[in-house]
Amino acid sequence: MDVGRRSSLKPAATKGKTMAEDQYDDQIFKADKKVVDAVVNPLPMGISNGVFFTVFFSVVYFLLIRWREKIRSSTPLHVVTMSEMAAIFLFVASFIYLLGFFGMSFVQATPYDEEEELEVDETEIVRKEDTRVTPCGAALDCDSDVVVKQVVKKELVFVPTDTSVVTEKDEEVIQSVVSGKTPSYSLESKLGDCKRAAFIRRVALERITGKSLDGLPLEGLDYESILGQCCEMPVGYVQIPVGVAGPMLLDGKEFSVPMATTEGCLVASTNRGFKAIYASGGATSILLKDGMTRAPVVRFGTARRAADLKFFLEEPLNFETLASVFNKSSRFGRLQKIQCAIAGKNLYMRFTCSTGDAMGMNMVSKGVQNVLEYLQSDFPDMDVIGISGNYCSDKKPAAVNWIEGRGKSVVCEAIIKEDIVKKVLKTNVAALVELNMLKNLTGSAMAGALGGFNAHASNIVSAVYLATGQDPAQNIESSHCITMMEAVNDGKDLHVSVTMPSIEVGTVGGGTQLASQSACLNLLGVKGANREAAGENARQLAKVVAGSVLAGELSLLSAIAAGQLVNSHMKYNRSNKDVTKA
Ligand code: ADP
Repeated sequence: MDVGRRSSLKPAATKGKTMAEDQYDDQIFKADKKVVDAVVNPLPMGISNGVFFTVFFSVVYFLLIRWREKIRSSTPLHVVTMSEMAAIFLFVASFIYLLGFFGMSFVQATPYDEEEELEVDETEIVRKEDTRVTPCGAALDCDSDVVVKQVVKKELVFVPTDTSVVTEKDEEVIQSVVSGKTPSYSLESKLGDCKRAAFIRRVALERITGKSLDGLPLEGLDYESILGQCCEMPVGYVQIPVGVAGPMLLDGKEFSVPMATTEGCLVASTNRGFKAIYASGGATSILLKDGMTRAPVVRFGTARRAADLKFFLEEPLNFETLASVFNKSSRFGRLQKIQCAIAGKNLYMRFTCSTGDAMGMNMVSKGVQNVLEYLQSDFPDMDVIGISGNYCSDKKPAAVNWIEGRGKSVVCEAIIKEDIVKKVLKTNVAALVELNMLKNLTGSAMAGALGGFNAHASNIVSAVYLATGQDPAQNIESSHCITMMEAVNDGKDLHVSVTMPSIEVGTVGGGTQLASQSACLNLLGVKGANREAAGENARQLAKVVAGSVLAGELSLLSAIAAGQLVNSHMKYNRSNKDVTKA
């Protein structure tokens, strides 16, 4: 442990901290330093340094005098007396000590700039444990001037939430929560002030756990807006940077796409894809389907009875009646279809309905509840096991979503010109087509993929979902995507498409109404409910997601093709082969 450097970790000035906190930090550092000193050297540092300095200079002085006398008396230098041997020994010993103490600090400090190594900001002490320039990585491409610095921050001191603003009343509630008298979850309803509830919960949590939440912001979030809708028992919020990629030219319109991510190069890569698409005249998207699903599971005494209900539901006249019952639940939910699957005497009914601009899980669940209640009169022996029987299928990889679709099903395509492939994507059409065939199609087939016939659709889906307040867990089925690439126009240009059957998005409800997510929706021009045509905003957002995935696929595959396949083509002299004719 390096005492000299360790002691320099102490922040010079800690703006924004109270005097008491400064003193607290000081004490921590002094205590730390004492512990380190004691381990390295049992004597007080000043005394041992003084002793060795004195010994070192004394023996040097003594040896120089002896050396001068020997020269004067013409005595050979290698003939040494006992006192000279002792002096040489002391010289070496003190030199090693002094070198060990001062020299190592110097040697260790030399390659680093102290400023670089230690970063002291207003509120915390940060030690850069791992500062490295990340190459663009296997997964993502990016221009060489895009540099990602990964900084692992280590907390060295406990910086509790600023409690200088705690009133006596707050203190009472905090103590009541700490002692377990007041349940943490009841703070909002008891206090009637969501921000204060979050603050009190946070301070109580720090006291109970002895762990600091420093770094997790409390200020800057409207806690009333998440109550009963987005998050229970809040103590702050996590910050995710939002980058913007674009313009994306999609169906003749331009979009700037917000992406919330901590993955370096993702935005840059998608941006490059957008550039290639723009320069080639833009992309086109088509909405194939729009319907959210919910599939309850019901049980009967026999498989015969389960089949009776299945046939009942498939009767067109009955469907009309059930649709009117279902549709009563919302102005926007409109039943489209009921698809059944039987497992013995259990029946799974997959209800599909349009949901306007909402993603629609709540809406479809309410409609299903109404229908189940209605059916109970005709099928009193029907035992409702669960409103969701996993045949829906929500937030799990499932073939039913891949085949039937869930939410919005979108296909998006573009033709990228030969020279754009070369200039912007830095590869060639044949290499891209071959890579797509071997990686996204064959490779994924070999892996037994379920909807994963793409390079990194989920990267883009997740980033756009986080930015726009979608349910990030639905990225599972929303990222189902098959990417196709073909050489067209006599093999010169590239036709690229993404087909995504289950994009689950909304522009009302859930996290979409939060200020920051709402701002991102606004940037895309799809904030809230569409006044002219209900559902048009959500459908547009789904198309934006597909267009962004198209750009992401194009860019990443190009990076891989440029970095590996093109090289291997050259190596094996196959660069002229037209793989589309294979
Ligand atoms: P979800 O069904 O996606 O979970 P919510 O139930 O939270 O969404 O939000 C949908 C709510 O928004 C419903 O109460 C619905 O009546 C209302 N709403 C207002 N305008 C629209 C619209 N254009 N499309 C869908 N829902 C809308």
